[in-house]
Amino acid sequence: MTPPSGTAVLETETPTPAPIRGTLGGERKNWAEQFALALFIGIPFAALVAAVPFAWGWGLSWLDVALVVVMYAITGHGITIGFHRYFTHGSFKANRGVRVALGIAGNMAVQGPLVRWVADHRKHHKFSDQDGDPHSPWKYGPGVRSLAKGLWWSHMGWLFDVEQTDQHKYAPDLLKDRDLVRISRQFPFWVAVSLLAPAALGGLISWSWQGALSAFFWAGLVRVGLLHHVTWSINSICHAVGKQPFRSRDKSGNVWWLAIPSMGESWHNLHHADQTAARHGVLRGQLDSSARIIRWMEKLGWVRDVRWPDRARIDAKRAA
Ligand SMILES: [Zn+2]
Ligand SMILES: [Zn+2]
Repeated sequence: MTPPSGTAVLETETPTPAPIRGTLGGERKNWAEQFALALFIGIPFAALVAAVPFAWGWGLSWLDVALVVVMYAITGHGITIGFHRYFTHGSFKANRGVRVALGIAGNMAVQGPLVRWVADHRKHHKFSDQDGDPHSPWKYGPGVRSLAKGLWWSHMGWLFDVEQTDQHKYAPDLLKDRDLVRISRQFPFWVAVSLLAPAALGGLISWSWQGALSAFFWAGLVRVGLLHHVTWSINSICHAVGKQPFRSRDKSGNVWWLAIPSMGESWHNLHHADQTAARHGVLRGQLDSSARIIRWMEKLGWVRDVRWPDRARIDAKRAA
């Protein structure tokens, strides 16, 4: 027997849930959460910095530092300019040589093969901070415990998720390009190149096994680890804290202190507000080395149809 429809509605009615808030601890930042976050970010990084003087002259040389900077810049921009702004969002068009080089440089960052990276990232934009986002820090909801768990998930935990983003659904354009499919499938080979090239250079330039070993450690392992954490911080930190000068339907924020190491990607609020823009640091003084290099490549004629953000478009995206 079916109950009268009026009573059924009353029985199943649930109170409306409190709105999800975009800042830690609700409208105001909770100092305990801020402090815990700073510790989690600060301590491992401080340990790494503290290791430098200990190692100096005894396993770390100027040559190692130079190799770290060069390898970090090549592989980091392979992610930011290549995997992200070009392959995921189509911020510009590139000739075949640049297209291939960006695919290789991005693979060498050791963040997964090209096609997988792009598929995951497009899914992130489609569902940003909602159900279906592969790496939202808000996965477990707001509140200290949920957010702590969520930050871990968005930073690294999601990488261990056995469920993979559907490549045919999210990256059909890349799968149609045989060169790109080949580069993406060669991922393990480019990882080996990424780790062994600095070792070979360090060994040849210093003409010693010791030089090869220390270059392998610093410009290979430490550099990959550093770039991993910077890239993952865009998924975790830039979706949990930061200023929101632009309108976006998620929790993305602009985090100034990550601008240089992230090569402009930490202006993440603008990026979610205007995904195809080739420049993320659009406001005065916002450093964005990726945009600068795209500009140089445009002047050289290597890339074209760059989607530079114009003033009117930026103003239209501003939060009220
Ligand atoms: Zn993006
Ligand atoms: Zn994002």
